[in-house]
Amino acid sequence: MASDVKRSTLAAQALGGSDPATGAVVPPLVASATYERAPDGSYPGGHTYTRDENPTYDRCEALLASLEDGREALLFASGMAAAATVVETLAPGDHMIAPAEMYWTLRGWLQGRAAAGRFALDLVPNGDLDALRRALRPGATRIVWVETPANPTCAITDIAATAEIAHAAGARVVTDSTVATPVLCRPLRLGADLVMHSATKQLNGHSDVLAGALVTARDDDLWARIRHERANRGAVLGPFEAWLLLRGMRTLFLRVARSAENAQQVAEALARHPDVTAALYPGLPDHPGHEIARRQMQGGYGPIVSFRVGTEARAHQVAGALRLFRNATSLGGVESLVEHRAPVEGPGTPVPPDLIRLSVGIEDAGDLVADLEQALAAAGR
Ligand SMILES: *Cc1c(COP(=O)(O)O)cnc(C)c1O
Repeated sequence: MASDVKRSTLAAQALGGSDPATGAVVPPLVASATYERAPDGSYPGGHTYTRDENPTYDRCEALLASLEDGREALLFASGMAAAATVVETLAPGDHMIAPAEMYWTLRGWLQGRAAAGRFALDLVPNGDLDALRRALRPGATRIVWVETPANPTCAITDIAATAEIAHAAGARVVTDSTVATPVLCRPLRLGADLVMHSATKQLNGHSDVLAGALVTARDDDLWARIRHERANRGAVLGPFEAWLLLRGMRTLFLRVARSAENAQQVAEALARHPDVTAALYPGLPDHPGHEIARRQMQGGYGPIVSFRVGTEARAHQVAGALRLFRNATSLGGVESLVEHRAPVEGPGTPVPPDLIRLSVGIEDAGDLVADLEQALAAAGR
């Protein structure tokens, strides 16, 4: 497709073109695990075996790379598989820095690996550049992990400032951009080296695929390692999931914009509500990360709105009293979800016990606000 069209056009048409063999407008699903050689032993189709590459991935990876302004993308079996593949490139004894507030399963896995002596890990307060400078060990710190907005607290990190500091110390910056998606933020343009996504969330958008992705700014040694690791460890996506993911990504720009608009309205309603002690959303002018988010995001602030209601018991009640917001984990689907988060994350979580996380979908915003109002009223004071 012509390179001067907007990213929303690229997404809607899945990069355009049709299948050369059949003329099919929708990219075909290729289930074959193996690919035939020519008599001379070469692979005329450019594919060998599905653990290494699959034609159903190609369009999806190319689309994601172009949406992120990246060089190349790779799909993985899950967001965790994508993240773990980056982290496993650390040599024994290397150092990594990650934010205190981040996707909890990844934080727990990193802490477990660090405790076992695999690498050294420091968790620093999200977006605190002085703490980052103090934690950096020039020559030893290889990865500075960023998650912005962070799940579930909505803490914001300045990607460009982080990259400048990390690069000066010889470290690479990896940004988990699951909550923002390439629609709202492009970390590679801001200086990040790699972008990671849980494609399970808004990229697919229909809560029916588990998938992850990495996008790189450069085809360098690190990327070659990552490509090799994916093919050898085999944490790849099935072709059916890749096909569903590409279908979901064609409506990415519509869904992300609508969810972000709804989330802004929900956050504003919660901020005004007398029974809400704090509304956490980067789109609210009094959010501590609002100015940075306004600079590095375009078109909205994502689907996650968190709020606090004073006590753990009340949070439990409100989450249980919502009717349209389904009480279920995950985020980024077309349907709105709610989760009382601290009990899920368990002891040691930095998430306050009375925090409720919403994932705002594409329903009518008035319906969603009314549902929150009835649940807050039902929970009493
Ligand atoms: C869900 C999530 C992940 C993990 O992705 P999976 O696809 O569930 O493995 C990582 N980071 C963030 C911010 C997430 O929300």
